Amino acid sequence: MKNNSTLQEKTSKYLCPTYARYPLAVKSARGCHLYDFEGREYLDMLSGISVCNLGHSHPEIVSAIASQAKKLIHVSNLFYQEEQAALAEKLISTCSLDRVFFCNSGAEANEGAIKLTRRYMQKILNQNRFEILTLNGSFHGRTLATLTATGQDKIKQGFDPLPKGFQTVPVNDKDALEQAVTPDTAAIMVEIIQGEGGIRLLSPGFLKKIVQIREKHDLLLIIDEIQTGMGRTGRFWAHQHYGLEPDIITSAKALANGLPMGAVLCTEKISSAFDPGSHGTTFGGNPLACAAALKVLEIMEQENLVKKADQLGRKALGIFERIRQDHPQKIMEIRGKGLMLGIELTFPGNRLWKALLEQGFVLNLTQDTVLRLLPPLVISGKHIESFAMTLDKLLQNPQLCQG
Ligand SMILES: *Cc1c(COP(=O)(O)O)cnc(C)c1O
Repeated sequence: MKNNSTLQEKTSKYLCPTYARYPLAVKSARGCHLYDFEGREYLDMLSGISVCNLGHSHPEIVSAIASQAKKLIHVSNLFYQEEQAALAEKLISTCSLDRVFFCNSGAEANEGAIKLTRRYMQKILNQNRFEILTLNGSFHGRTLATLTATGQDKIKQGFDPLPKGFQTVPVNDKDALEQAVTPDTAAIMVEIIQGEGGIRLLSPGFLKKIVQIREKHDLLLIIDEIQTGMGRTGRFWAHQHYGLEPDIITSAKALANGLPMGAVLCTEKISSAFDPGSHGTTFGGNPLACAAALKVLEIMEQENLVKKADQLGRKALGIFERIRQDHPQKIMEIRGKGLMLGIELTFPGNRLWKALLEQGFVLNLTQDTVLRLLPPLVISGKHIESFAMTLDKLLQNPQLCQG
């Protein structure tokens, strides 16, 4: 990074080395663009990993945050707060569930879902089932329980002993799922499209099997919509593509368009497993985050963003599919729904990814070979076309198409 070496030095010196940073220091952002310290503009096709779905510094979000900051930032869950109640009502109206618990991150939402599942089994059903089945390649977070739930070994290294009560099953393998169920099994937890795992879709047949097994063994179905929710896939929640009726949904990332916020949504009956004192979090649902999230939901309606993600996503799939046909030796597959798209390369994509960044396109490379696109839902078709043209051009350079 040539433009800000002191920033790079300080970062390496004072922060724990948990992240491999991109060679880009972001000074500011607006709409679909990021700006570095030299004033260079980048097209953001990642949205801070599906967080800033309405783009950066959306004027109405900025003013909602500013006016809420003047009114009330935090008071704690010891008090009634109008922003919290209003957001809960509105968020619930997006799905078939009844109640919500607010928290501050995706991992915390999944942790809450895991705790709620165990407590529901123990306190409401009077059973001691506790095990949660998850899928290989999944990502559910970095707390001890959620990293154990995550189906990727690299995330678990060096953190033994891991909590018990989790079992991972291969994706789209109906028989393996059936065989994994034991008398201890309490729930199945899945992402409808694995994000971190490389934009991998669960097959409709596998989803049908999940529903069957859930009925047969009276399991809870927890859907991790942390990345796929909030309109990202062209439905408000990704499970709505398939008419599923989850018992618990977890949300975070785009919920407050950049302020830290998570949520656990559940049925009335399941929510009764929690009583005062059984679960909590200091910052969860504070008025500032709630005011931002409420404004997010309003803007999504006004700007019809779920439908837009669906339509633009279809268009983008078509554009990328044509590029794949022109480069069949280099692109293995195009996958995704709405504006959650993956371009799987036949080679390790690091050089290509870096060249795209140098050309001004910010996206993510996941699982070594998958270019992951999570652009703001307000992105235009023109922006996607300009990315596609650059990708097409770079794919013609053999130097960039090798590991
Ligand atoms: C990002 C993510 C999480 C974890 O969220 P954090 O806010 O980083 O804790 C969990 N599940 C999925 C599917 C995610 O994409």
